[in-house]
Amino acid sequence: MIETVLIHGGKREPLIQGALTSPIFQSSTYASAEWGKAKYIRFGNTPNHEELQARLALLEGAEAALVTSSGMAAIATAMFALLRPGDHVISHNSLYGCTYRLFEETLRPLGIETDYVDMTVDALDLEALRRPTTKAVYLEAISNPTLGIPDFDAVLEFSGRHGLTTLIDNTFATPVNFRPIEAGFDVVIHSASKYLNGHTDLVAGVIVGRADFVEECRQTMLKLGAALDPHAIFLLQRGLKTLAIRVRQQNESAMAIARHLSERPEVEAVRYPLLGAAAGRAKRHLQGGGGVVSFDLGSSDRALQFVHALRIATVAPSLGGCETLVMVPALLSHATLDPEVRRRMGVRDGLVRMAVGLESTADLIADIDQALDGLSNATVQPSTA
Ligand SMILES: *Cc1c(COP(=O)(O)O)cnc(C)c1O
Repeated sequence: MIETVLIHGGKREPLIQGALTSPIFQSSTYASAEWGKAKYIRFGNTPNHEELQARLALLEGAEAALVTSSGMAAIATAMFALLRPGDHVISHNSLYGCTYRLFEETLRPLGIETDYVDMTVDALDLEALRRPTTKAVYLEAISNPTLGIPDFDAVLEFSGRHGLTTLIDNTFATPVNFRPIEAGFDVVIHSASKYLNGHTDLVAGVIVGRADFVEECRQTMLKLGAALDPHAIFLLQRGLKTLAIRVRQQNESAMAIARHLSERPEVEAVRYPLLGAAAGRAKRHLQGGGGVVSFDLGSSDRALQFVHALRIATVAPSLGGCETLVMVPALLSHATLDPEVRRRMGVRDGLVRMAVGLESTADLIADIDQALDGLSNATVQPSTA
């Protein structure tokens, strides 16, 4: 079971000096006379790397895993390992802001083009976007920040029919709520900076998949210089132990907050995977809805006023830690995107994204209520519009 894998999966046997926690091997290089056996931090193959990678592969039910210096390093490494100039990608239209920028500002000028489509619609048909050069399909398990669930069955059926590689960013769902490899996806990517680590104190990324592809990624990573440092590995492995209990608590708390927000007249559209029109699909695929809730307060002024009135939550990008974080995506994570691209992604100006932490749910709801109460008073004078 996942709880046991998080703590014991792939652990070193025998234990070094009986230590339950693996020491940090703070050594850049290792004694060896043959290239094939050389260990070096940048190669991603030191004892710390190998223990954590074995655990992550078991966690996602994959043949192999690779840790990288950030989530973006994982995405870039996987794309560079897979794609060549002239290749074409079909992507979900709602993506982490920097992923979209990687596709448009880095890959497109190199001749790797991406077309975007809303993969959460009913009767999804990707055929019209396919080109002879289409190589991969890219999506996020729960898309950020609109929290839609793509039609996984349609994506997998289409990709299988044409032999395309499917890559899915599972950061928001985590393997506690969704295991894409078991569902049939080829490559799973994580920003381990979020839930996997869970303590808002490092950046790291993960790629999992078939052993040959992960080795291809490792060869690409060592050329890009995107390996993770052993000290960060130690922290990530420590954070990972509590992933299951953290995520289940965050699932519950976020669901209660989403329900509560739905009852407040100031809030226009609450988005949470297990609520609303798309809840059926989410329930079929996910064990839980995750810790992120989005909702619309009508304008960026109202959204900003609300987030600054909160006393417990900090206004900041990122998610997946113990502390509740809140932000207005149009002004922060998605601020550098063209307003038209934001609109296509469903990132409205008044959208607030709350990444629920591990504080008391009752305290968080009381805090939200006092902030919303202040908002209703302020709307009596239309000066903020
Ligand atoms: C944060 C995030 C990333 C980027 O990860 P970093 O570790 O910050 O580089 C990619 N995808 C999603 C869904 C994220 O939330």
